[in-house]
Amino acid sequence: MFEPVLLKNATRDNAWQLDVYQANGGYEAWRKVLNSYKPADVIGQVKASNLRGRGGAGFPTGLKWSFIPADSPSQRYLCCNADEGEPGTFKDKFLMEQDPHQLLEGMAIAAYAIGAHRAYIYLRYEFRLALERLQKAIDSAREQGLLGANILGSGFDLEIYIHRNAGAYICGEETALLQSLEGYRGEPRLKPPFPAIKGYCASPTVVNNVETLACIPSIFTNGAEWFAAIGPEKSPGPKLYCLSGQVNKPGLYELPMGVSLRELIEVHGRGCREGYQLKAVIPGGVSAPMLPADQVDIAMDFDTLAAAGSMLGSAGVIVMDNSASIVEVTKRTMEFFSHESCGKCSPCREGTLWAVKILRRFADGTATQDDLSQLHSLCENIAGNSFCALADGAIMALRAALKHFESEFTERIDARATLKSEGSIDHD
Ligand code: NAD
Repeated sequence: MFEPVLLKNATRDNAWQLDVYQANGGYEAWRKVLNSYKPADVIGQVKASNLRGRGGAGFPTGLKWSFIPADSPSQRYLCCNADEGEPGTFKDKFLMEQDPHQLLEGMAIAAYAIGAHRAYIYLRYEFRLALERLQKAIDSAREQGLLGANILGSGFDLEIYIHRNAGAYICGEETALLQSLEGYRGEPRLKPPFPAIKGYCASPTVVNNVETLACIPSIFTNGAEWFAAIGPEKSPGPKLYCLSGQVNKPGLYELPMGVSLRELIEVHGRGCREGYQLKAVIPGGVSAPMLPADQVDIAMDFDTLAAAGSMLGSAGVIVMDNSASIVEVTKRTMEFFSHESCGKCSPCREGTLWAVKILRRFADGTATQDDLSQLHSLCENIAGNSFCALADGAIMALRAALKHFESEFTERIDARATLKSEGSIDHD
């Protein structure tokens, strides 16, 4: 039986309060690190744990921290990416609302490891409760000397600030996030240089996701070997899965990395509604290519899903039963990406809008064979040619829909008369 790690405290009454957190072992890891670890040893432990970034890309966390130049004279920064915006994803919001001190403790350890004295939480604008609880948590941790100047008499200083975004999905992309934090329009920058070399105000900056940082205290409480032994060797640890869509028991589940997608849906989510069958699953937020029902016997980890042509991404698992229309889902997904495109590069700005217009014709039943060819051609021309990963995510979603369910698109070609008689067209 798997014991929750990240949600261990979150289900207690008033879990967001400092006294509750400390009564259950909170900030012990931070005290231990300050008393007995050098920054390089902290990075060594995180490397040994094999923790990989939970924002979506799965980059090794300890390796990312080690890129911060040890001899750089400039300020270093830590930035927590709390701009959780991937549709189907709601894990970071929950962690920040229910257990903000776990995140702060992880941030304190990370900042100490990279020598940062200033850290930011770049928070999604809509997360009002998280804002309130995080600010209270920062204030109470400062009052007790766990943050601020000369923390617990160690000589180490750290201030944590919250910065609210203004409601743009693109600002979850780390370089757009840094632009926005600096006060500029939130548009991505070219990588390399990566933020670890040239980040906030051109200084070395580590950008880590909320869940990634929330994993840190447990590595120092229980040991790197303990963490590395949970789940698959190459991407271990506890993992939060956001289960939503046409499933009986949607919710946030903490299970080991590598749990089977079928177990997640059928055992934890209690399967699809009676009388309906599983049709497809998006395993990692809408950027992650959907998998048809016959491919759900798969381990939910970075490498296995990538090998199957999909991705774990933000672990936003969206379940579709046989009542779902893949054409409608794809149209809605593309409308989201087109709306959220920052407009900086033309493959994304024009390409996603073009795809939306074509997909609306499929939804209306007015599409032609030429529209289907155009969709395929758009996939070829956009993939790999946009400035950041936003358009690639949109195209991966579209490609998967066409790959597994092209017949649903061809059925809609010149199908307006049929759709109208069935009452499926809701606009002209
Ligand atoms: P990426 O692979 O470009 O980078 C991942 C991280 O590793 C970044 O922090 C990057 O700076 C660092 N990195 C990579 N190579 C490096 C190097 N050579 N030197 C130093 N640092 C290096 O991926 P990305 O574009 O940051 O993220 C894409 C992912 O974001 C997708 O998988 C998607 O699932 C996810 N995503 C998540 C959300 C969400 O709400 N959580 C929203 C949109 C997208």
